[in-house]
Amino acid sequence: MEFKIIESESTFLHPRTGFEPEKVRFEVRIDPLTGRTGHYSHFGAIKPQRLDLEHYKKPEIKGFCPFCLDKRAKVTPKFTTHIYPEGRPSLGEAVLIPNLFPYDIYSGVVIMADDHVLSLEQLNRKILRDTFTLGISFLKKIKTLSPSIPYYLMTWNYMPPSGGGLVHPHQQYFATECPGNQFIDELRASEGFYRTHGKDYWSALIDGERDAGKRYAGNVGASHWLIPFVCLGILGDIMCIFPDVYSIEDFQDRHIDNLVEGLRRVFEYYRTEGIMSFNASLLFGPENQRYFPCHLRISARTFLNMRDFAPDFNFFQAILGEPVCVAMPEDLCKDVGKFF
Ligand SMILES: [Zn+2]
Repeated sequence: MEFKIIESESTFLHPRTGFEPEKVRFEVRIDPLTGRTGHYSHFGAIKPQRLDLEHYKKPEIKGFCPFCLDKRAKVTPKFTTHIYPEGRPSLGEAVLIPNLFPYDIYSGVVIMADDHVLSLEQLNRKILRDTFTLGISFLKKIKTLSPSIPYYLMTWNYMPPSGGGLVHPHQQYFATECPGNQFIDELRASEGFYRTHGKDYWSALIDGERDAGKRYAGNVGASHWLIPFVCLGILGDIMCIFPDVYSIEDFQDRHIDNLVEGLRRVFEYYRTEGIMSFNASLLFGPENQRYFPCHLRISARTFLNMRDFAPDFNFFQAILGEPVCVAMPEDLCKDVGKFF
C-alpha cells in the first residue's frame, strides 16, 4: 500500500507583495487503492458558507414540498403490494416511499422527519436510527425479492449546496448492477489487492492508518473513522469502515448504532467548523466476498459564496473527473479526531 504524493510549486510575481516572486505549493495525491488522483491546492482559501435555515422555512422560499405532512399522503407514491402491502412503511417519523425518479428497479426514499428543515443538531440519534433501520430493512427486502442484484447503496444529499433538490431531509436507498464509477473502481481494485496480497485492503488500511496516526480519527464500536488519503470534496471527506460487514445481510442493529454515534460526532465537528451541507454514501458489495467491506463516505459541501451561490464543484470535478481539496487530510484528522 503506497501513499504517493507528487509535491510541486508554482512561482509568480505577487501583487500583494509589490510583485516580488512568490512560490505557492500544491500537491497531487494518488489513491493507494484505485490509483485515481486528487489535487490539493488553494489551501485555506475556501470557507464553508453559513446557510440561513429559517429562510428555507418561509412559504415563498419553501414552495411545493411533497415530503411535508400536508402534501405527503396525496402526492407521494406507494410501493406495490408485493413489496409492502401497507404502501409506505414507517418507523417513528421516518417514512419509506418509492422514488418517483427511480435509479433502478428497486429505488426508495426515506423521508427522515415530519419537519421541513432539520439542522445538524436536530438530526438526533432517534431520527438517524429510525431512518437507517428503515432504509437498511428495505435493502434487505430487495435482496430477498431479487437476489441477483449485486450492489446496495444509501445515498444522501443534505441541504442545497450538496445538489439536493429538496431541503426536507431524506435519503435514497437502492440496489443496482451499475453503482457508479467510484464504486466499481474501488471494488475491482479491492479484489485485485486481495488476490495479490491475500488480505482485505480495507482492514489493512485501518491497521496501517491507526499505527501511523496521521489520518485515523478513532473507532466507535466496530466502526473505524478516518480521513481518506484522496478526498473527493473540496472541504475534505470523512470515511467510516465496517471491517466485519461484507454484505447487506451482515449489517445489524449494532452497526446502525455505531454509524449513528459516529455521525453525531461528525456533525459536532461540522458544527464547530460551520459546515452545514454534505453528500454521503454507504456502500455494500456483493455477497460471498471478503475483500470489499461496507463503508461510508461523507463529504462536506458549501456554496463558494452567498452572492451568486457558486457551487464548490467546477470543471475539475464536472469534466476532468478530478477532485480538488483545500484541506490536508492530516490537518483535518487533527480536528475531527477531537470528537472521537
Ligand atoms: Zn417539506
